[in-house]
Amino acid sequence: MSTVAAAYALPAPDGAFEKLTIERRELGPHDVLIDVKYAGICHSDIHTARDEWGGTRYPCVPGHEIAGLVAAVGSAVTKYKVGDRVGVGCMVDSCGKCGPCLADEEQYCEVGATMTYNSPVAPEVQPGGYTMGGYATQVVVTENFVVSIPEGIGLDVAAPLLCAGVTLFSPLRHWEAGPGKRVAIIGMGGLGHIGVKIAAAMGAEVTVLSHSLSKQEDGKRFGAHHYYATGDRQTFRELRGRYDLILNTVSADLPLDDYMRLLNLDGTLVILGLPENPLSVKPFTLAGYRRSLSGSMIGGIAQTQEMLDFCAQHGIGAEIELISADEIDNAYDRVVASDVRYRFVIDAATI
Ligand SMILES: [Zn+2]
Ligand SMILES: [Zn+2]
Repeated sequence: MSTVAAAYALPAPDGAFEKLTIERRELGPHDVLIDVKYAGICHSDIHTARDEWGGTRYPCVPGHEIAGLVAAVGSAVTKYKVGDRVGVGCMVDSCGKCGPCLADEEQYCEVGATMTYNSPVAPEVQPGGYTMGGYATQVVVTENFVVSIPEGIGLDVAAPLLCAGVTLFSPLRHWEAGPGKRVAIIGMGGLGHIGVKIAAAMGAEVTVLSHSLSKQEDGKRFGAHHYYATGDRQTFRELRGRYDLILNTVSADLPLDDYMRLLNLDGTLVILGLPENPLSVKPFTLAGYRRSLSGSMIGGIAQTQEMLDFCAQHGIGAEIELISADEIDNAYDRVVASDVRYRFVIDAATI
């Protein structure tokens, strides 16, 4: 028997969110039915819902930072039982056979992972023929793409970890942030603030590079050791050659050479925010100190679980503003205006 869920959807790129009912597929042997409790609002939700990246299917139900409780399981499910605290992030399936999938890096699946919303799928996977996300009362996901949320984290503050958390955790692990490493994080918004907490908990020396010092108190409270304003040219002179790793969470165009020159020998600047324009950096900037420019996209399912366990162990959750479902339009406008501290989370009880 399929499940009828209530959801909030955008009917068109320039519309307002409307409540509607959607159908979730009948549980297959490996499926988990989740009662959604909280859904975070990620900037990608906005880009997709408003068709800023093209290819959006309507009605569009965004949401890939999902935290909830297991309501039912398929006959062959072994990992979860009814009542378990669980999460779903940006992906709900992948081929499972290619190199990246076998290396637990499903986000780089060669066939293309099935994303939590707006991905084309067979009608038996999601009635309607494309995935619909977490701004809904229920979701059905195959057990291998469901992660466990440890008791140590509230479901509300855990929700944003499913995308924002792993987006920061993955490069911090990959480039081995830890004691003796100097890490700088550009931007302290929804992504950056979680990166500060995680990098500090890993034992790295953490610097925030923010346009102004307006969030400095928060940054220090989240664990940053240093906080600099990039609106002040002196910052770039003072910090030249200092960092092993710089994570750029800002999706606006930045003077990349200025930031790359803050790297030390073999340092890497990792692009996490995705501006539309091509990047430009002078070859001399890369050659000096053998610097690298790289990018990183979310993280695999195993690493998402590792991140949640790490966050529970270190008492890390996102800083959130809890909203009701009828406030989504306003929240979107505030995210676009960078007016949120630091992540909006929808209380699914209001859907
Ligand atoms: Zn996201
Ligand atoms: Zn694959």
